[in-house]
Amino acid sequence: MHIHIRKTGTHLGVCLSVLICLFLAVPANAAAVALTFDDGPTAKQTRAIVEILQKEDVLATFFLCGYRLEEYEEIASLLADPDFELGVHGYSHQPMNDLNEDVLQEELDSTAKLITEYTGHTPTVMRPPGGLTNDTVQKICTQNGYPIILWSVDPEDWRPGNTADFVSSRVLEQIRDGDIILLHDLNRRTTDALPDIIRELKQQGFEFLTVSELAERQGVALESGASYYRFSPNSG
Ligand SMILES: [Zn+2]
Repeated sequence: MHIHIRKTGTHLGVCLSVLICLFLAVPANAAAVALTFDDGPTAKQTRAIVEILQKEDVLATFFLCGYRLEEYEEIASLLADPDFELGVHGYSHQPMNDLNEDVLQEELDSTAKLITEYTGHTPTVMRPPGGLTNDTVQKICTQNGYPIILWSVDPEDWRPGNTADFVSSRVLEQIRDGDIILLHDLNRRTTDALPDIIRELKQQGFEFLTVSELAERQGVALESGASYYRFSPNSG
């Protein structure tokens, strides 16, 4: 059939045969999610988080702060692993919706420069502290080529008093294909919850991808300055 269609010599025939071959060659994708860790690197948690991710062989994304990169250069080098995507979380962790264009530009540039200097990664995604964005943030992100990555699952690992069990159950009870999970590289409860989250989701058949890979998998072309909460299947 393949050859027969090609013999017709029409553009349509060739396109159809290519489509059929692609369809047959690509297996159905597993459900996938993105783990994201904000506010690092930190002396207390980064190393342990990286070890868990590497041991479980899963991909993840870190949104890093410039001032912490400067403070923990050596720890930052642990994030050089190509299985990690590194994004910009601003230099100072001030709410970006309070900043003027010049300050905002400097927040993005200085952090991106430190990421590249310490890890060799070139960041292509941005998450504003607290998820706070406005027209100015969007404008500067558009000019600098950064899509704005927010989240769809927030297990509140940042809230004092929450336990590791609370954090893992909050993730597991609401997870769907294409979700972006907000975690922090800050507190022990997050690190303690992580093995449970990863093993349980693996058992349920979920794959772990970086934010950019998850978007691609789900057929979403990331646009600079646009905000993304999750990448639902076939949303592209
Ligand atoms: Zn933050």
